[in-house]
Amino acid sequence: MLHETSEGRVAPTGDKVLYVFYDFETIRNTRYMDEVRLHVPNLVFVQHLCSRCEDVEDGDCVQCGRRKQSFWQDPVEELLSYLTELRPWTNKIVAIAYNAKGFNLHFILNRAILVKWKPESVMNDLKIMFMKMEHLVLLDSVSFLPCPLR
Ligand SMILES: [Zn+2]
Repeated sequence: MLHETSEGRVAPTGDKVLYVFYDFETIRNTRYMDEVRLHVPNLVFVQHLCSRCEDVEDGDCVQCGRRKQSFWQDPVEELLSYLTELRPWTNKIVAIAYNAKGFNLHFILNRAILVKWKPESVMNDLKIMFMKMEHLVLLDSVSFLPCPLR
C-alpha cells in the first residue's frame, strides 16, 4: 500500500514490497495500415525502491540491488524478466508507469498473452486500468499518484 509522508510524497508502507517505475520509449517505423504506424518499444527505463532505500536519492541498495536500469534488446521481454526475477525478501511487486493505461500496459498485456500468462485486468474501453499477474501488480501513475514521475 502507498501512503503520503509528512513531506507530501508517496511512499510504501510495507517492508516486503518492491516499487518499480518504468517508461517505454518507442519507434514508429512499422507500418500497420496505409496511414498508421505501430509504436514499437525500443527502450525501457526502470527505477525501483524498497523500504530500505525509499529515502535514498541515488545508489544501489543492500536489499533490492541495482536501482536504475535500462533494457533495449527486447525491452518488453527484458522488463517482464526483470519484474519476475526471484526476490525472496519481497512478496509483492508494484510496477507503475505514467500513462500505463493507454500506452505502457498494452505492450505488457500483448506479451503476456503471447507467453500464455493469464493476467487479471480491469479495462475501461481500450484503457487498461489495472493488471495483476501472481504477485505483480501494474498500475498507472495518473490514477494513483497526485504528482508526475521524475
Ligand atoms: Zn532498496
